[in-house]
Amino acid sequence: MPNDKRPNTGQEALELLKEGNARYVDSLSSTDAMTQRRPELVKDQDPLAIILGCSDARVPVEIVFDQGLGDLFVIRVAGNIVAPSQIGSIEFAAEKFGTKLVVVLGHSQCGAVTACVDALINPEQNYSPNLQSIVDRIRPSVYNLHELATANGPDVDTDELVDRSIRANVRMSVSQLKHGSRALEDLTNSGQLLVVGAEYDLETGKVRFLDS
Ligand SMILES: [Zn+2]
Repeated sequence: MPNDKRPNTGQEALELLKEGNARYVDSLSSTDAMTQRRPELVKDQDPLAIILGCSDARVPVEIVFDQGLGDLFVIRVAGNIVAPSQIGSIEFAAEKFGTKLVVVLGHSQCGAVTACVDALINPEQNYSPNLQSIVDRIRPSVYNLHELATANGPDVDTDELVDRSIRANVRMSVSQLKHGSRALEDLTNSGQLLVVGAEYDLETGKVRFLDS
Protein backbone atom coordinates (compact mmCIF):
# COMPACT_ATOMS: atom_id res chain seq x y z
CA MET A 1 0.00 0.00 0.00
CA PRO A 2 1.22 3.51 -0.65
CA ASN A 3 1.94 5.31 2.56
CA ASP A 4 -0.58 7.51 4.30
CA LYS A 5 1.61 7.63 7.41
CA ARG A 6 4.57 9.94 7.53
CA PRO A 7 7.89 8.85 9.05
CA ASN A 8 9.40 10.80 11.93
CA THR A 9 13.00 10.02 11.02
CA GLY A 10 15.08 9.29 7.96
CA GLN A 11 15.55 5.74 9.23
CA GLU A 12 11.77 5.19 9.39
CA ALA A 13 11.45 6.55 5.85
CA LEU A 14 14.17 4.14 4.74
CA GLU A 15 12.20 1.21 6.22
CA LEU A 16 9.10 2.26 4.26
CA LEU A 17 11.10 2.26 1.01
CA LYS A 18 12.62 -1.14 1.80
CA GLU A 19 9.15 -2.56 2.48
CA GLY A 20 7.85 -1.01 -0.75
CA ASN A 21 10.68 -2.49 -2.81
CA ALA A 22 10.02 -5.90 -1.26
CA ARG A 23 6.35 -5.65 -2.37
CA TYR A 24 7.48 -4.66 -5.86
CA VAL A 25 9.94 -7.57 -6.08
CA ASP A 26 7.18 -9.95 -4.98
CA SER A 27 4.77 -8.42 -7.54
CA LEU A 28 2.46 -7.23 -4.77
CA SER A 29 2.51 -3.57 -5.89
CA SER A 30 -0.64 -1.64 -5.20
CA THR A 31 -1.15 0.41 -8.36
CA ASP A 32 -4.89 0.95 -7.79
CA ALA A 33 -4.24 2.73 -4.53
CA MET A 34 -1.53 4.99 -5.95
CA THR A 35 -3.91 7.80 -6.78
CA GLN A 36 -6.10 7.63 -3.65
CA ARG A 37 -4.52 10.68 -2.06
CA ARG A 38 -5.06 13.03 -5.01
CA PRO A 39 -7.74 15.22 -3.38
CA GLU A 40 -5.78 15.78 -0.16
CA LEU A 41 -2.60 16.61 -2.09
CA VAL A 42 -4.07 19.55 -4.02
CA LYS A 43 -3.09 22.08 -1.37
CA ASP A 44 0.17 20.64 -0.13
CA GLN A 45 2.77 17.91 -0.39
CA ASP A 46 4.65 16.06 2.30
CA PRO A 47 6.97 13.59 0.56
CA LEU A 48 8.47 10.90 2.78
CA ALA A 49 11.71 10.75 0.77
CA ILE A 50 13.70 12.62 -1.86
CA ILE A 51 15.12 10.41 -4.60
CA LEU A 52 17.94 11.38 -6.95
CA GLY A 53 17.70 8.70 -9.63
CA CYS A 54 18.78 8.05 -13.20
CA SER A 55 16.57 8.95 -16.17
CA ASP A 56 16.72 5.35 -17.38
CA ALA A 57 13.23 4.23 -18.44
CA ARG A 58 13.67 0.95 -16.57
CA VAL A 59 13.98 2.58 -13.15
CA PRO A 60 10.77 4.52 -12.41
CA VAL A 61 11.20 5.23 -8.73
CA GLU A 62 7.56 5.31 -7.58
CA ILE A 63 7.08 1.86 -9.08
CA VAL A 64 10.25 0.23 -7.77
CA PHE A 65 9.51 1.50 -4.24
CA ASP A 66 5.75 0.88 -4.55
CA GLN A 67 4.86 4.44 -3.55
CA GLY A 68 1.92 6.57 -4.58
CA LEU A 69 1.09 10.18 -5.41
CA GLY A 70 2.78 12.63 -3.07
CA ASP A 71 5.11 10.06 -1.49
CA LEU A 72 8.38 10.80 -3.31
CA PHE A 73 10.09 14.03 -4.37
CA VAL A 74 11.99 12.84 -7.43
CA ILE A 75 14.90 14.24 -9.40
CA ARG A 76 15.96 12.13 -12.36
CA VAL A 77 18.99 12.87 -14.48
CA ALA A 78 21.19 10.57 -16.56
CA GLY A 79 23.78 8.99 -14.28
CA ASN A 80 22.14 10.37 -11.10
CA ILE A 81 24.78 13.10 -11.11
CA VAL A 82 24.92 16.06 -8.77
CA ALA A 83 24.96 19.50 -10.41
CA PRO A 84 23.76 22.79 -8.88
CA SER A 85 20.16 22.36 -10.05
CA GLN A 86 19.96 18.92 -8.39
CA ILE A 87 21.33 20.31 -5.13
CA GLY A 88 18.88 23.21 -5.32
CA SER A 89 15.93 20.85 -5.84
CA ILE A 90 16.95 18.76 -2.83
CA GLU A 91 17.52 21.83 -0.64
CA PHE A 92 14.04 23.00 -1.61
CA ALA A 93 12.35 19.76 -0.58
CA ALA A 94 14.41 19.23 2.58
CA GLU A 95 13.81 22.78 3.83
CA LYS A 96 10.25 23.38 2.65
CA PHE A 97 8.73 20.00 3.42
CA GLY A 98 11.11 18.78 6.13
CA THR A 99 11.72 15.55 4.24
CA LYS A 100 14.22 13.53 6.27
CA LEU A 101 15.64 11.08 3.76
CA VAL A 102 17.55 11.44 0.48
CA VAL A 103 18.31 8.34 -1.58
CA VAL A 104 20.76 8.47 -4.49
CA LEU A 105 19.59 5.57 -6.64
CA GLY A 106 21.96 4.19 -9.25
CA HIS A 107 21.25 1.04 -11.22
CA SER A 108 22.92 -1.85 -13.01
CA GLN A 109 23.73 -1.41 -16.72
CA CYS A 110 23.64 2.40 -16.40
CA GLY A 111 24.16 3.91 -19.86
CA ALA A 112 25.62 7.16 -18.55
CA VAL A 113 28.26 5.36 -16.47
CA THR A 114 28.96 3.04 -19.40
CA ALA A 115 29.47 6.10 -21.64
CA CYS A 116 31.98 7.45 -19.13
CA VAL A 117 33.87 4.15 -19.01
CA ASP A 118 33.86 4.02 -22.83
CA ALA A 119 35.27 7.55 -22.95
CA LEU A 120 38.14 6.53 -20.65
CA ILE A 121 38.93 3.42 -22.68
CA ASN A 122 38.57 5.18 -26.05
CA PRO A 123 39.62 8.79 -25.48
CA GLU A 124 38.78 9.69 -29.08
CA GLN A 125 35.11 9.05 -28.25
CA ASN A 126 33.04 12.10 -29.20
CA TYR A 127 30.02 13.22 -27.24
CA SER A 128 28.00 16.39 -27.63
CA PRO A 129 29.08 19.12 -25.18
CA ASN A 130 25.89 18.58 -23.20
CA LEU A 131 26.32 14.83 -22.84
CA GLN A 132 30.01 15.42 -22.19
CA SER A 133 29.08 17.60 -19.21
CA ILE A 134 27.30 14.61 -17.66
CA VAL A 135 30.20 12.27 -18.44
CA ASP A 136 32.61 14.79 -16.89
CA ARG A 137 30.68 14.68 -13.61
CA ILE A 138 30.82 10.89 -13.50
CA ARG A 139 34.47 10.77 -14.53
CA PRO A 140 36.23 11.36 -11.16
CA SER A 141 34.59 8.33 -9.53
CA VAL A 142 35.41 6.11 -12.51
CA TYR A 143 38.92 7.40 -13.14
CA ASN A 144 40.70 5.69 -10.22
CA LEU A 145 38.98 2.38 -10.86
CA HIS A 146 40.00 2.62 -14.51
CA GLU A 147 43.60 3.42 -13.53
CA LEU A 148 43.67 0.35 -11.26
CA ALA A 149 42.09 -1.84 -13.93
CA THR A 150 44.64 -0.80 -16.57
CA ALA A 151 47.70 -0.89 -14.27
CA ASN A 152 48.73 -4.31 -15.52
CA GLY A 153 48.00 -3.77 -19.18
CA PRO A 154 45.36 -2.52 -21.55
CA ASP A 155 43.02 -5.53 -21.23
CA VAL A 156 40.13 -4.41 -19.09
CA ASP A 157 37.05 -6.31 -17.98
CA THR A 158 34.68 -3.58 -19.07
CA ASP A 159 31.59 -5.13 -17.48
CA GLU A 160 33.26 -5.34 -14.09
CA LEU A 161 34.60 -1.81 -14.43
CA VAL A 162 31.12 -0.49 -15.25
CA ASP A 163 29.65 -2.47 -12.36
CA ARG A 164 32.07 -1.07 -9.81
CA SER A 165 31.89 2.41 -11.32
CA ILE A 166 28.12 2.50 -10.83
CA ARG A 167 28.53 2.13 -7.06
CA ALA A 168 31.48 4.54 -6.96
CA ASN A 169 29.35 7.09 -8.80
CA VAL A 170 26.47 6.69 -6.32
CA ARG A 171 28.88 7.15 -3.41
CA MET A 172 30.33 10.26 -5.03
CA SER A 173 26.87 11.78 -5.48
CA VAL A 174 26.04 11.01 -1.82
CA SER A 175 29.25 12.74 -0.74
CA GLN A 176 28.62 15.74 -2.98
CA LEU A 177 25.13 16.16 -1.54
CA LYS A 178 26.40 15.89 2.03
CA HIS A 179 29.26 18.32 1.54
CA GLY A 180 28.36 20.41 -1.51
CA SER A 181 25.64 22.41 0.19
CA ARG A 182 25.80 24.32 3.46
CA ALA A 183 22.08 23.81 3.99
CA LEU A 184 22.23 20.04 3.44
CA GLU A 185 25.41 19.71 5.49
CA ASP A 186 23.77 21.48 8.44
CA LEU A 187 20.68 19.28 8.22
CA THR A 188 22.82 16.15 7.96
CA ASN A 189 25.11 17.10 10.85
CA SER A 190 22.18 17.87 13.12
CA GLY A 191 20.60 14.50 12.36
CA GLN A 192 17.59 15.97 10.57
CA LEU A 193 18.51 14.52 7.19
CA LEU A 194 19.79 11.09 6.22
CA VAL A 195 21.53 10.78 2.83
CA VAL A 196 22.09 7.24 1.57
CA GLY A 197 23.15 5.53 -1.65
CA ALA A 198 21.47 2.55 -3.27
CA GLU A 199 21.68 0.43 -6.39
CA TYR A 200 18.72 -1.00 -8.30
CA ASP A 201 19.22 -4.35 -10.04
CA LEU A 202 17.47 -4.43 -13.43
CA GLU A 203 17.24 -8.23 -13.35
CA THR A 204 15.86 -8.86 -9.87
CA GLY A 205 14.11 -5.55 -9.23
CA LYS A 206 15.84 -5.36 -5.86
CA VAL A 207 17.21 -2.15 -4.40
CA ARG A 208 20.37 -2.70 -2.39
CA PHE A 209 21.24 0.08 0.01
CA LEU A 210 24.98 0.76 0.16
CA ASP A 211 26.97 1.13 3.36
CA SER A 212 28.03 4.72 3.63
ZN1 LIG B 1 21.42 5.12 -15.75
